[in-house]
Amino acid sequence: METVDLLGVHIHLVSMEEAVARIEEFIQDGSPRHVVTADASAVLRAHRDPRFREILRDADLVVPDGIGVVWAARLLGWRVPERVPGVELVERLCALSAQRGYRVFLLGAAPGVAEEAARVLATRYPGLCVAGTHHGYFRPEEEGRILAMIQGSRPHILFVALGVPTQEVWISRHRGTLGIPVCIGVGGSFDVLSGRLRRAPRWMQHLGLEWLFRWYQEPWRWRRILALPRFALLVVKARLSRKSSS
Ligand code: UDP
Repeated sequence: METVDLLGVHIHLVSMEEAVARIEEFIQDGSPRHVVTADASAVLRAHRDPRFREILRDADLVVPDGIGVVWAARLLGWRVPERVPGVELVERLCALSAQRGYRVFLLGAAPGVAEEAARVLATRYPGLCVAGTHHGYFRPEEEGRILAMIQGSRPHILFVALGVPTQEVWISRHRGTLGIPVCIGVGGSFDVLSGRLRRAPRWMQHLGLEWLFRWYQEPWRWRRILALPRFALLVVKARLSRKSSS
């Protein structure tokens, strides 16, 4: 699996198909693995924050989520098959789990949202076994109970939707104790799957404008959007310094 270094973050240049195949290997192997769906704002955060960067470096699979990461990798001369959006990865893994009998657990989002997302997924993928759900607004003193609940339900895949970087920090802290084959941070996926938020229309996705649609739906995310030109600038600088050193 080809890995590239994007502003200090190691990204695996996999297609959706390859990501799903790799994750199935993780499930069959059984030792606890961490999968990250990295978009431009996550890469930028890791570039600035060495502790977060370490967590991403320790992850077993970091897929290119988001047009920003794909654009950056291509500008730096790497062959990126396609983008691997978190929400689509959740769906593909639920389709696979329904076929193979893998259990999934959904942790995160506002109360009621993970349950609703699980209902939608179970309808869309008949036979899907949802081991359990829990919302993502718990107090530190509730964590022990939630960890025991997840562990007791013995899922093969744990989807964690607490937002970046909370979900990655949470997974890296608990994956050893949980011993679940695959933990994946999936950001706002449950909000989309439950119908609370809409995904951008297909034409916008094709033009790489999904971020613009998210901004329109959640205007309070302006800080993240403003980070994108900064990300682009760093990538262009990296490109220029590669050119001058070659
Ligand atoms: N969230 C949560 N607990 C928190 C903070 C956030 O469960 O303490 C959820 C939030 O409800 C949303 C998801 O985490 O469903 C974060 O979504 P966002 O779109 O911000 O994800 P990101 O872009 O950071 O991956």
